[in-house]
Amino acid sequence: MIVKNVKVYTEEKKFKEGSIYIEGGRFVSPSAHLEKGNVCGEQMEAEKAVIDGEGCYAIPGLIDLHFHGCMGADFCDGTEEALKIITEYEASVGVTAIAPATMTLPVKELEDILSVAAVYAGKQAVDKEEPGEKMERKKASDAEKLRADLVGINMEGPFISRAKKGAQDAANIIPCDSKICERFLEASQGLVKFIGIAPEESEGAVEFIQSVKDKVHVSLAHTNADYDTANEAFQAGADHAVHLYNAMSSFTHRTPGVIGAVVDNEHVWAELICDGVHVHPAAVRATFKMLGEDRIVLISDSMRATGMPDGTYTLGGLDVNVQGNRATLVSDGALAGSVTNLMDCMRTVVKDMGVPLETAVACVTINPARCLEIEADYGSIAEGKTADLVLLDEELNIRTVVKRGQIL
Ligand SMILES: [Zn+2]
Repeated sequence: MIVKNVKVYTEEKKFKEGSIYIEGGRFVSPSAHLEKGNVCGEQMEAEKAVIDGEGCYAIPGLIDLHFHGCMGADFCDGTEEALKIITEYEASVGVTAIAPATMTLPVKELEDILSVAAVYAGKQAVDKEEPGEKMERKKASDAEKLRADLVGINMEGPFISRAKKGAQDAANIIPCDSKICERFLEASQGLVKFIGIAPEESEGAVEFIQSVKDKVHVSLAHTNADYDTANEAFQAGADHAVHLYNAMSSFTHRTPGVIGAVVDNEHVWAELICDGVHVHPAAVRATFKMLGEDRIVLISDSMRATGMPDGTYTLGGLDVNVQGNRATLVSDGALAGSVTNLMDCMRTVVKDMGVPLETAVACVTINPARCLEIEADYGSIAEGKTADLVLLDEELNIRTVVKRGQIL
């Protein structure tokens, strides 16, 4: 496939007019595209297609590494059906790789959810076989390939703080425990990429971080830690901060808290919910100035009502009221995730918050790919990477989504 007449988002984070060449579901160089490989039948037809991008922006498929659900389905429903609904919807809005988040649930329930996800990711992996091999099986599973890839899991609980529980169920909160963490990693077959902790809640937090940090990224999540405690956790090897500002100690001049520690520890990635509700536009701009654009990951934190009408839904077993772009707990009015997808969030930071498009795109593509350590395969339009692509018009409306070299 050739996508011509587009403004290509390059690895230098700039737009450059040109064409994009795709073969066998991956980006290739123009010369490689001319040498037809061992493709057959319908596959050949797809490879020969030429799309006129009509001057659109061509950006890599988005990667959301923190959200809970959409279209009535939640990752924690723990069913293949829910995963199908989620991966289908996300791909349709240009989010072509995902690492959904778990809620604070009983350990056994979490293990079951993680196992189901691991099986699903395994099935998707079979579908990624190179073209030319096992054509029959490939054909049968075509529909599967046009969904977002499940590339990881972000665990928000259960090792968090009651004081900063947000919309998490306090009844299931427990202190961090490396044996339980191992059970999560095992149940998910390594798909869990982030495990969240509130380091102030456990005397063994530093030991916990040191014992698991080489197997999973430790994040500070739903935490009331002061600066020193957060700093100690980051120095011990934690390297991720879950939705900066939200469900976290505040950043003030004498108590800089977790946010101050994130600023001082340059190896730490910061998630930022940018739905226009969770973080004020001025705080978003200030964060870009404080941290720079290279360690911010924009997330949606969307819950199951995303893509659905206003009404009452559930999140982690708790009732949530959704009105417009706000989702709040029925019990205490706490914000309960967002109802926007990551593509909407990207538009919001560009159009309403004054973040340059070039910066915003990096924060929803290559930054999350690096954070998830999948940048060899995802996150930019570069030779050899998975051909996940979104064409956007001047107003940033989606014109076309290409998933693994096929048009959705
Ligand atoms: Zn949260």
